[in-house]
Amino acid sequence: MPKRRCAPRDCSGPANSIVSGTMRPDVLNPLFASVATLAGVGPKTAILFEKALAPSHGTPARVADLLFHLPRSGIDRRDRPKIMSAPRDQIVLIEAKVIEHRPPGSRNARAPYRVIVEDETGDMALVFFLANHQWIERSLPLGAKRWISGKIELWDGHLQMVHPDKVLDEAALAKLPPVEPIYGLTEGLTQRAVQKAAEGALAKLPDLPEWIDAPLVAQRRWPTFKAALQAIHRPDSTAAFDPQNPARLRLAYDELLASQVALGLMRARMKKLGGRPSIGTDALAQKILAALPFSLTGAQQEALAEIRADLASNERMLRLVQGDVGSGKTIVALLAMATMVEAGRQAAMMAPTEILARQHYERMLPLCEAARMKLALLTGRDKAAERKKTLAALETGDIDIVVGTHALFQEAVAFKDLGLAVVDEQHRFGVHQRLALGSKGDCVDVLVMTATPIPRTLVLTYFGDMDVSVLREKPAGRQPIDTRAIPLERLDEVVAGIGRAIKAGARAYWVCPLVDENEELDLAAATERAEVLRQFFGDRVGLIHGQMKGAEKDAAMEAFQRGQTSVLVATTVIEVGVDVPEATIMVIEHAERFGLAQLHQLRGRVGRGKDRSTCLLLYKAPLGEVSEARIAIMRESEDGFRIAEEDLKLRGEGEVLGTRQSGTPGFRLASLDVHGALLPVARDDARMIVEKDPELASERGKAVRALLYLFERDEAVKLLRAG
Ligand code: ADP
Ligand code: MG
Repeated sequence: MPKRRCAPRDCSGPANSIVSGTMRPDVLNPLFASVATLAGVGPKTAILFEKALAPSHGTPARVADLLFHLPRSGIDRRDRPKIMSAPRDQIVLIEAKVIEHRPPGSRNARAPYRVIVEDETGDMALVFFLANHQWIERSLPLGAKRWISGKIELWDGHLQMVHPDKVLDEAALAKLPPVEPIYGLTEGLTQRAVQKAAEGALAKLPDLPEWIDAPLVAQRRWPTFKAALQAIHRPDSTAAFDPQNPARLRLAYDELLASQVALGLMRARMKKLGGRPSIGTDALAQKILAALPFSLTGAQQEALAEIRADLASNERMLRLVQGDVGSGKTIVALLAMATMVEAGRQAAMMAPTEILARQHYERMLPLCEAARMKLALLTGRDKAAERKKTLAALETGDIDIVVGTHALFQEAVAFKDLGLAVVDEQHRFGVHQRLALGSKGDCVDVLVMTATPIPRTLVLTYFGDMDVSVLREKPAGRQPIDTRAIPLERLDEVVAGIGRAIKAGARAYWVCPLVDENEELDLAAATERAEVLRQFFGDRVGLIHGQMKGAEKDAAMEAFQRGQTSVLVATTVIEVGVDVPEATIMVIEHAERFGLAQLHQLRGRVGRGKDRSTCLLLYKAPLGEVSEARIAIMRESEDGFRIAEEDLKLRGEGEVLGTRQSGTPGFRLASLDVHGALLPVARDDARMIVEKDPELASERGKAVRALLYLFERDEAVKLLRAG
């Protein structure tokens, strides 16, 4: 047996320890120190910073996190609006004369202290609750001219400014920066505190060597990394807040470059470590094909041919199979695994949920039996004795193919000779997990399957330069799905219609809405809906939700699969991959609350059999503009690729991947909406770096290492050493 060159290197010595930071260039140390090292930031404020900066790594907020917390907007202090015409509800700086003090009366000490100021357009009251009278008298002497900053509002017919954030005399005004940055905050944290801390952080920012290709910097007239951060945190005009500002573009590019280099290094390393061709005999695959009630589509055959060529080559496979819901990815995966088994090795398939793992297992079992392959299921729910048996059989090679959840990459799982890892519905797993499974054998080929047709730009972002097979064609005989939008007021009619349909033997999913992204409320809504429907259809109604125990979920799913229940009320747990070809009705309640990709995925649960299917989008009127556009696209198209692209336009790329947060997940400075055009540039640059200097040993290579650390893509640096 060959040496296990692909084993994970985490345990192979302190030099590889990322946590200790031993390989991190020393110049970066000040940036990796806690924000508590900054003047004026105590332990309590440090906790607030952690919240506001939301560092992803679960460690204390660091100076670098603060620097990457870019101000969203700013106030130009050179704008001096007049009292009457100043914009409301936005911080302004007003020049005014103090004309009257109205301290609270002695009978009502809790009333605010008011100071009236005026300019040539009118007057307003400065309002101080629980005021320090001495401070007010000192700072706002009668008759003096002052520059006052805060939000003006209309209250009871009068203009007022509650607790101005600044009261300045002429000397203090002169010291004010021309443009004051405004940061995202968290409760308890003030603008001043962040501004001060950001100043402190800038002071610690070292000069770093340039990691971007010099001609590119010159051509785009980008500032250096340091100058870019300075320009944004110490803006000299509000242009600094424009996302297309050169400083912002540069920082976005830095982040994209870091991610592309990291992905590139991983890919290069995986490819380099390949070198075990696995060539099948086609014997097992033929038996599977013979047992199938259908023949493969052209797209499936093509994808399979590409995969087999990868498996046979002596480079490591890193391939993404992109296929719309219902395009038939599972059978492609099974045939690929059969090829690996023909070559005398094992294969594993990882699904994101128990339900899916079990479903794959049940679907594949008869086919594996027909081909005399040993198939096993491994999930977190297995009984100890059973699990022990499965693990032992995997290690001796008695099991050919194992299907499971993330339980598959736990340490105790060892294979005799794992050759292929298939990861289904990839976007639920991180790069880490993908690597973890890939490291469970000797040069494991990796096949990733995504149900969401991800636009090319996103493939790049998330998967780097993976090879891609696309299943654009759907199996023949699929009928179009009749998609209708119906306001919730007509629920009665919908229920009556479902009643008629199930009497005629139909099966329906009924998906309940997300309520404020709150699982408990989700659950309440689904439970309530099931109860209402039970009043009509009795025990024909099943319920499935994310908080049910695994066995309960299986039971609910099985009852629906077998037709014991006709209506399956569900929270979005059914979103991913469930396959019940007999189901022909999909009701999505509060469709306006779902993203387009999610709607498409949900709808894809029907239209899988020979009978005509219907999708009812129940919405609450009136629809907002975006929801209306989404529903219109759903009615118009069933092409997942088109829908994904429309989705990208409507909502930003976070939604396309089914994550609900706005912005681009995993990125802090780059947003693909705005900076997407930089991505191919970063990819090409990264490719060149990785090709020319795979060890990052040159001057520029060293600079790029610093970049990887800065953006926490240093896992990739670890790979260099592991060579
Ligand atoms: P997905 O790509 O969404 O994972 P599945 O692999 O679950 O899709 O396949 C959807 C359904 O289509 C399954 O019931 C499967 O048996 C069926 N199917 C797959 N390939 C074909 C084909 N070539 N012809 C007809 N039906 C197919
Ligand atoms: Mg699937």
